[in-house]
Amino acid sequence: MAEQADTRAALEVAVVGGSIAGCAVAIELARAGCAVTLFERSGEELKDRGAGIGVPAAVIDTLIARDLVDGDIARFPAPAFLRISRTAEAPDYGRLAWAQPAVMLALNWGSLYRNLRRRVPDAVYRTRCQVTDVRNLDDRRPRVVLADGREHDFDLVVCADGYASLGRRLLFPRATMAYAGYVLWRGALAEAALDDPAPLERGIHALGYAGGHGIFYFVPGPDGGVARGRRLVNWGMYHPVPAAELTAFMTAADGTLHEGSLPPGAMPAATEAGLKALATRRLPRYYDAIVQRSQGTFAYAIYDCPVPGYRRGRVCLAGDAGAFARPHSGAGALKGMHDAIALGAAVAAAGQDGQALDAALAAWDTERTAENNRLVRFGQQLGHAFVDAIPDWSGMDAAAMAAWYESVVTIPSDYLRVRG
Ligand SMILES: Cc1cc2nc3c(=O)[nH]c(=O)nc-3n(C[C@H](O)[C@H](O)[C@H](O)COP(=O)(O)OP(=O)(O)OC[C@H]3O[C@@H](n4cnc5c(N)ncnc54)[C@H](O)[C@@H]3O)c2cc1C
Repeated sequence: MAEQADTRAALEVAVVGGSIAGCAVAIELARAGCAVTLFERSGEELKDRGAGIGVPAAVIDTLIARDLVDGDIARFPAPAFLRISRTAEAPDYGRLAWAQPAVMLALNWGSLYRNLRRRVPDAVYRTRCQVTDVRNLDDRRPRVVLADGREHDFDLVVCADGYASLGRRLLFPRATMAYAGYVLWRGALAEAALDDPAPLERGIHALGYAGGHGIFYFVPGPDGGVARGRRLVNWGMYHPVPAAELTAFMTAADGTLHEGSLPPGAMPAATEAGLKALATRRLPRYYDAIVQRSQGTFAYAIYDCPVPGYRRGRVCLAGDAGAFARPHSGAGALKGMHDAIALGAAVAAAGQDGQALDAALAAWDTERTAENNRLVRFGQQLGHAFVDAIPDWSGMDAAAMAAWYESVVTIPSDYLRVRG
């Protein structure tokens, strides 16, 4: 992070939330010359979100070029989405309907986070600081209120506080999360626990079944291992849960109701056993064995949340605190980093001139709102295609699959192609 020669002259910025988006914003704004303070409600315990993350190949080059991540961050290519279904003739590995070309790299979420966190000095990253309010929203010095009663005024506040964002609620109270009608049930298995890793080598495996699909792919292991034997199989299965049953589904074994996600170890044993029984009916045996061997599976509900804007005055949103897209969109962690890079450029270009800063923030707001709401719509299209209205792939060949995909997914993708 760049040295701040004279922090009294620098723009004072508060970042709320210290995960992917918050760290990226802190890095970019410090490099743009701002005096940054980051407030994170949790401690320094290891943050993780499961395991895998797919990143469009070009994006990682940008992140490396900007020194947001190390040049040797653990990754490997996933050149295709192998769209497979179980048939009577292929009960073990399934029948490949289409190797849909993709330009993706598989990363481990934890190593992406640690790369970013290392670039934020500890003096900037304040742990156990929960923000409970942001006041004076229409002033040039909005006020951040902490749970312990402390209050601080800043020139700019960036809320990167995740999908259940306080910042989003304050800025846009009418922007609500709309439940998509299904959940993503997830797990991971060490490669060493596989009988045979070879069938999983060729990319991201997408297993279609009535009511959804499952994804299975290798990601680097928790220690960054990309060599054979040291990777993790990251998997997830989409599963319809009617809105009326979501509360029961999200209630943990100990009776706690979780909003949004049911973390590892929380799911009632009967629920996990029921999902595993469904996996046996839906998946070819090879993939079902991976699911059956996985312990501590977890789930999160799928939501859409487009937003009317990314900013009010000097308070901005970044990452999942802004528009929230379904995981199919591939936006995940990257949306926040793009928000941060663009915000850093806007602030750097405006310099110390308050009017120029307001104009730069307005332009940033317009651009990020359009792009990230587009990702929400893209996620909805993919959700409709691959979950709500997924056709039976068992009789379809590559040409039929490509024609079907083009007829239902009209928004261009950073990572999915129709032809190689
Ligand atoms: C259960 C789950 C699993 C996921 N798995 C994947 C995956 O495998 N791959 C993928 O690409 N994406 C995954 N995602 C999405 C991915 O985690 C997010 O897209 C990404 O982490 C977004 O980063 P973010 O920084 O915007 O928000 P988050 O990572 O949600 O971080 C928000 C941060 O803000 C802090 N915070 C919140 N409120 C306050 C407050 N009031 N005061 C101070 N701090 C606050 C939180 O503690 C947290 O550190 C998953 C999401 C969930 C919920």
